Amino acid sequence: MILLGAPGAGKGTQAKLIAKKFQLAHIATGDLLRDSVAKETTLGVQAKEYMDKGELVPDQLVIDMIKERLTQSDALNGYILDGFPRTLQQAEKMIEVEDVDVVLNIDVDFNLLLERLTGRRSCSRCGEVFHIKYNPPTTENICDKCGAQLTQRADDKEEVIRNRLETYNNQTKPLIQFYKQRNILKNIRGSGTIEEIFENIVSALEEFK
Ligand code: AMP
Repeated sequence: MILLGAPGAGKGTQAKLIAKKFQLAHIATGDLLRDSVAKETTLGVQAKEYMDKGELVPDQLVIDMIKERLTQSDALNGYILDGFPRTLQQAEKMIEVEDVDVVLNIDVDFNLLLERLTGRRSCSRCGEVFHIKYNPPTTENICDKCGAQLTQRADDKEEVIRNRLETYNNQTKPLIQFYKQRNILKNIRGSGTIEEIFENIVSALEEFK
């Protein structure tokens, strides 16, 4: 399964819920890349330059990373891709490597995307994601799950956000058409509460079955 959507559409939040309900491995290229950046691996050092500017990491680097991730045992019984593919080249490569069953496109209004991204906070230790207005932690700036400090992602700053949204429009949005033509695309209304959006997804998947 593939989750498409602009930055801030709620891919990560929904992917975690879908993975749990359908017992799929959750594979998020953004998380894998941030992990490589934190560990200062060769890939991480190369990727950081692009991520800091809100640009896409070059296709080949991401494709190699995802191929390697798909060989891990938890991916063998099915997985949900969150943040991949993001370009036509990535999508074409993916089709060569694996059969894609369904692509969910989470559709969210531009203004709401901006609000979701600027208010997003994540835990510096366990990665749990909150929103100052839509999903606030019980104690301000403290993770409900592990008690560590919440931080704002470096690329959730306003200047970078604009670039990420533009990159999405130019490079990722065409994938909607790509998958529509292959009859595996399901559009999901991405406004509302986390639970409401998840319900939209579950009913779309039931229809698809
Ligand atoms: P995300 O957490 O999905 O918003 O991704 C954060 C950043 O990681 C993006 O702005 C890109 O710089 C990079 N990234 C994540 N996934 C991909 C991908 N499939 N292709 C290229 N760059 C990616």
